[in-house]
Amino acid sequence: MTDASVFDQYPLDQWKDPSHNIMDRFSLAGKKGFVTGGAGGLGRNVAAAWAEAGADVAIVDLPRTKETLEPLAQELSERYGVKVVPLYCDVSDKAQVDALKTSLVDALGTVDVAFINAGVNVPGDDADEPYEIWQKTIDINLTGAYLTAQIAQHIMREHNHGGSLVFTSSLSAHNANFIAGGPSPVAAYGASKAGIYEYARYLAAALAPYGIRSNAISPGYVWSGIFEGRIVPEAHDMMTAPVPMRRFGTNEEIASAVLFLASDASSYVTGTNLQVDGGYSVY
Ligand code: NAD
Repeated sequence: MTDASVFDQYPLDQWKDPSHNIMDRFSLAGKKGFVTGGAGGLGRNVAAAWAEAGADVAIVDLPRTKETLEPLAQELSERYGVKVVPLYCDVSDKAQVDALKTSLVDALGTVDVAFINAGVNVPGDDADEPYEIWQKTIDINLTGAYLTAQIAQHIMREHNHGGSLVFTSSLSAHNANFIAGGPSPVAAYGASKAGIYEYARYLAAALAPYGIRSNAISPGYVWSGIFEGRIVPEAHDMMTAPVPMRRFGTNEEIASAVLFLASDASSYVTGTNLQVDGGYSVY
């Protein structure tokens, strides 16, 4: 029979402690994290949020982003007084991701939080897409997520502490993204993002004994790298017509959701998918 002390883990009114502050649960002070796709809209804003919340952060992206990543790391480090380092890696390349694991430990010591976010949506991703587009999308979005999550959870387990994995899935994992009378070109993209979501759920079950949580976010349309400056006002109105809130989301609105999932504010949340989509998915 279970000892009655098992109930000691359920404090009832923690707010009564004079030193208690609910906002502390959103802090990442002393934590170490990395963000893939860190030069992009969502990635750099999550890196900024995590740095502001007190974490040392590695911003990971392709070598071609060096001119963006170097000054970004310096700016975040100076602004928030934490260590922010740029690291370069193609997440679809196993050898490069294995090398990233060593670089992360060298640069940060360990990893407590990881934002598994690098992704592409390749033009021509429709019902008759060529094999090359399918393969590239799956390689970067799904296999890349697998590879980078593997190094994150292995670092956490080797260092005997828990952690939080947050994956970027998508609205397109759940529907065909209806625009102007038909589906968006998200055939392989949606499949890759649905795979990410299910992989995140599997890891939630498998890694809970190690104190590691695993969750996904599914952004709807975010005014970010893919769209910013690339669409006309008419397209904006057409795309937001099926969104109950009638607008795009912002990078900041994604960053705050990811901060919640990374931090202890979500300490009893694992295996979930958080829709951040202005209500699009309710239809
Ligand atoms: P973005 O294009 O600004 O950022 C994506 C980043 O990923 C880029 O910096 C790019 O260099 C990097 N990247 C691409 N291939 C890579 C690879 N092989 N290895 C390492 N890095 C690589 O796009 P974003 O809007 O910031 O999107 C970030 C994530 O959010 C993506 O996974 C995207 O699919 C997803 N998403 C975006 C939206 C949206 O509306 N913006 C909606 C749903 C999901």
